Amino acid sequence: MTIDAQWIDTLVAAFIETSPKNTLCNPAGEKAFDRPLVGFAKGDDPLFEAYKDHVGPFCMTPWEIFALTFGDTGVRPEQLTVISYILPQTDATKTDNRKEKIYPSERWARARIFGEEVNVALRQHIVASLKEEGCRAVAPLLTPQFSRRISPKYGFSSTWSERHVAYAAGLGTFGLCDGMITPVGKAMRTGSVVAELRIPPSPRPYADHRAGCLYYSRGICKKCIARCPVGAISETGKDKALCFTHVRKTRDYVKTHYGFEGYGCGLCQTGVPCESGVPGAGSPL
Ligand code: SF4
Ligand code: SF4
Repeated sequence: MTIDAQWIDTLVAAFIETSPKNTLCNPAGEKAFDRPLVGFAKGDDPLFEAYKDHVGPFCMTPWEIFALTFGDTGVRPEQLTVISYILPQTDATKTDNRKEKIYPSERWARARIFGEEVNVALRQHIVASLKEEGCRAVAPLLTPQFSRRISPKYGFSSTWSERHVAYAAGLGTFGLCDGMITPVGKAMRTGSVVAELRIPPSPRPYADHRAGCLYYSRGICKKCIARCPVGAISETGKDKALCFTHVRKTRDYVKTHYGFEGYGCGLCQTGVPCESGVPGAGSPL
């Protein structure tokens, strides 16, 4: 069987469409995510090396993660492809969270916890499906090499950033609130797999890494600043420590009001012009 971009796209879409694992685990059994987007980056894309300089030397390249996983340093970076995908939040989840002012809505908190379980299951499904076809693949986030780190420049970081991978795969750019603005918006989750495949890279349809944000591109909007309940976003970007502290504090609220162990926020991802798409000239402000 030929494994090409279409094959991967169909595999990812079918999982989200048909798998019972795509669930918010609420009584109605609603889906956690809508139809995904898929993009591809070359294993030897210079961006992955650039992330070491830009974010921190702890950032792993696709080759490093693959060679360590399979104990094979003979594979060459250009023999690898990074598969990246975007899992859009549903309309119901976005509508609920838009109404919130301090804490996450129940659907949003469920998407943060049970949605990430879907994301893990999808990564595993892609790896297992490729293995069945004789193709070696690994989901970096699920390896022992994945760990949280502190970037001298950006604070909380990690050895593998799903959002930076999505940027490399042509799926979006970074907004003022540090969220990723994709063609289906900022209200989403993202994941990736590194595979021993040669798939042409997706075009990056943007001039720079902040092109989709109205503040960075046109000096307007700043709606995410007002949405943040703790003032973590300003014209200089996001204070990750302030954000983290608030998100951690939502645990009690989620437990008391929704009855499960969870957390979240996402207020800056909803009720803003970049919530469900890349805001254009005609976007409502
Ligand atoms: S709400 Fe406006 S300023 Fe904030 S990230 Fe989105 S487009 Fe940029
Ligand atoms: S996730 Fe919440 S706390 Fe963090 S920056 Fe966005 S609105 Fe503020």
